[in-house]
Amino acid sequence: MPAELPHNPESPEVPGDDLQAFYRHVAQTSDAPMGLEIESAYGVFLCTRDGREIIDFISGIAVSSLGHGHPEVVRAVQEQAARHMHVMVYGEFIQRPQSALAARLASLLPDSLGRIYFVNSGTEANEAALKLAKKYTGRHRFVAFWDGYHGDTQGSLSVTGRDVYRIPYEPLLPDVTFCDFNDPSVLELITDEVAAVILEPIQGEGGIIAADPDWLAAVRRRCTETGTLLIFDEIQSGFGRTGRLFAFEHYNVVPDILTMAKAMGGGMPLGGLASSSEIFRAFMYDPPLNHVTTFGGHPVSCAAADAALRVLMREGYMERASEIELLTRKILRGKGIVEVRGRGAMLGLQLVDADTTRKAVAHCLNEHGILLGWTLHSNTLVRLAPPLIIDRALLEQTLMIIRDAVSMMAPAS
Ligand code: PMP
Repeated sequence: MPAELPHNPESPEVPGDDLQAFYRHVAQTSDAPMGLEIESAYGVFLCTRDGREIIDFISGIAVSSLGHGHPEVVRAVQEQAARHMHVMVYGEFIQRPQSALAARLASLLPDSLGRIYFVNSGTEANEAALKLAKKYTGRHRFVAFWDGYHGDTQGSLSVTGRDVYRIPYEPLLPDVTFCDFNDPSVLELITDEVAAVILEPIQGEGGIIAADPDWLAAVRRRCTETGTLLIFDEIQSGFGRTGRLFAFEHYNVVPDILTMAKAMGGGMPLGGLASSSEIFRAFMYDPPLNHVTTFGGHPVSCAAADAALRVLMREGYMERASEIELLTRKILRGKGIVEVRGRGAMLGLQLVDADTTRKAVAHCLNEHGILLGWTLHSNTLVRLAPPLIIDRALLEQTLMIIRDAVSMMAPAS
């Protein structure tokens, strides 16, 4: 029995109050959730129940690139929900929003990534990519990287390079070898027994660490030599965040499988993996239907994604990512700041120590209504991932407040 039953089970009111319902009945993932009570959200702002407007400087963690509630995305959701929602499991029926999105994405990707398999989330995209690599190559070994993050389901967790998150759940997938990111010794680990190498071209949760271009090109060559598939996880770096549709475009290195999610759905849950027709045949035969999903590529999510992609390509928001980077690098200098890392609007602000980081982040939120956060694997790096639509004046003002907060909290040098 729940602790408190609603006075009237048919009432739309929250039984008890929101706070109680959240803290008592919603399963918690930490003992200190941020706990902002959200009433609504628009553009770069989150509106709380107590009337505050908070600048979302992390975009719901690299999701809301077009801001919250973009009118074209909202319209697409409403129209599609009214037309039809779920009608059949993945892959059987022709659903216009899904086909339109696949075709639009394919037109923006190299030919070898011209087929898309839709799922619901980032981790599911990686699960599918790992299975696809095993089935296609007939091998079962993987190479992954320390501090890489690929999701919390068991396959993705197996290739996530942080012991503290992985070890409590072992045994996971056997035969995963981890290597330091950007370390050339990985080339010796990539043999004709390895199904796939999985990496983020720019590690997100690991602290916004970009791959070295020569190293990435060498990894590509070695994978090709050994028949190993190269999987790029662009779940965080995709859809314009780094100034290109996908970060791999900065490198001129094309993966065999590209995984995506987060900003893809324009705020709706959606993920996908892109690869070639030849590789995807492994999902069609021996036996047929060997990788299916009920909700993957939900028509409402695909309609939202297609609208978001149209807006992104039309409005030049990707170019805004480079402006955001330039301004951030210009303003965020001084006491307590070690460096700004990353590319476009996928940036990390490396600070001197954890105490300064914690205090500066809290000060920005409590005193100035600016929402920042840190990355999962680092407590000294502030994540900067504003919506690409943020206007220049607000961006400038926000960055100056962040700079001053860090300077105030940093120890005297
Ligand atoms: N890969 C990367 C690079 C990510 O940043 C994330 C989410 N932080 C994931 C995978 C997992 O995505 P999801 O939370 O949608 O499962």
